Amino acid sequence: MIFDREVETLPRESLRELQLDRLRALVAVAKERVPLYGERLADVEPGDLSSIDDLRHLPFTRKDDLRAAYPFGMLAVPRSQLVRVHASSGTTGKLTVVGYTRADVELFARVNARCLAMAGAERGMMLHNAYGYGLFTGGLGIHYGGERLGMTVIPVSGGMTERQLMLIEDFRPEMITCTPSYALTLAQAFAARGVAPNEISLRYAVLGAEPWTDAMRDEIDAGLGVASSNIFGLSEVIGPGVSCECVEERAGSHVNEDHFLAEVVDPETGEPLPEGEDGVLVFTTLTKEALPLVRYWTGDISSLSSAPCACGRTLLRMARIKGRADDMLIIRGVNVYPTQVEAALLQLPELTPNYRILVARSGTLDEAEVEVEVSEVFLREAGTESLSGDLDHVRELRERAERRLQGSIGCSLAVSLRAPGTMPRSEGGKLQRVVDRRALR
Ligand code: ADP
Ligand code: ZN
Repeated sequence: MIFDREVETLPRESLRELQLDRLRALVAVAKERVPLYGERLADVEPGDLSSIDDLRHLPFTRKDDLRAAYPFGMLAVPRSQLVRVHASSGTTGKLTVVGYTRADVELFARVNARCLAMAGAERGMMLHNAYGYGLFTGGLGIHYGGERLGMTVIPVSGGMTERQLMLIEDFRPEMITCTPSYALTLAQAFAARGVAPNEISLRYAVLGAEPWTDAMRDEIDAGLGVASSNIFGLSEVIGPGVSCECVEERAGSHVNEDHFLAEVVDPETGEPLPEGEDGVLVFTTLTKEALPLVRYWTGDISSLSSAPCACGRTLLRMARIKGRADDMLIIRGVNVYPTQVEAALLQLPELTPNYRILVARSGTLDEAEVEVEVSEVFLREAGTESLSGDLDHVRELRERAERRLQGSIGCSLAVSLRAPGTMPRSEGGKLQRVVDRRALR
């Protein structure tokens, strides 16, 4: 089902005209109402923008700009016109605060209704929403989207895994929304209870808020008996609902481009990159009232494609996020994203998606170690619970995993094998994959 059929299937030429009109209006409002843009866009007249490509001449907005204006200094409306505030967790320091007018909340609902529909939702289906409710945008963002589409939304929020399983078994929802790491936790909990995937009522999952891989998707789809789609968003731009994969192809997320103008730029020079090339995602909000952003630098690495899609939507697709700039490790000069580690590990059927990366410094060198759980099957076939490195089959698996990592990443990472059930699991929210001990020294 296509929620906003007309715009989601608009010929790209018409879409670009719509975007240009909206961009001009955005520049006028931002200059007039937001002091930062009054300065930065002083030389830009809306009428000077003669095509969407002129966007490249506008300055970027960065997270530091929002931090400097903390909490409400970037608003384009009086604070009293906000009907809601959200904030991103931020791993360090102050929160990044975002605000919504009544119209923004309606937009937020609409783009999420579109995304849920892309991922397979229909009016009347039941949605088990296990994204966290609160300052985090995930819970309420999806919630309003589900209601807007006409679904029955169960606002479970994250955590209390046993209760989640009970609600899924008793209510029999068709769709679940949560982080991919939590979806895996739920799948494992069902397996531990002896519930087979085909006994679980869920058919679709809409997962996001953290990077994940296709190999992880295979595990989740098999474990829950679903087809899961990747949903993307960030608080600064609106929250979830910026883009989502359609269930027809599940190969890249359609960006709601009539509201969020996407670019991919070179991380070093800031120059726009052609389709298909990896770079930093940059978004311009075309219709938001409270917090309009011009060329917001997300730090997320992806690429864009306008290839036609089986679902009939003409909206651009963005590739899976390779990683966020914050999560990129530089190990002996090589850039490494956790998703690359995940993809390499999961090529080995003896390993599981329960892993983390420990980074430490020895002298002037960064040392990285990957801890990963082996599968139950591996232990069963070995006939021993022990993972001692003295055992041949254990050493063989460890060395094979290390070679696989070296081959696909280009630097050596030591692998430690762990017993099933011993690594941290997502308890409802985003899972921290990297433990960086370099700062401790
Ligand atoms: P934070 O995580 O910084 O507290 P947000 O909740 O706003 O704040 O998270 C937005 C970020 O989450 C994005 O910039 C991106 O790094 C990550 N993210 C969101 N959805 C996805 C996704 N589907 N795949 C990969 N990363 C994602
Ligand atoms: Zn599609």
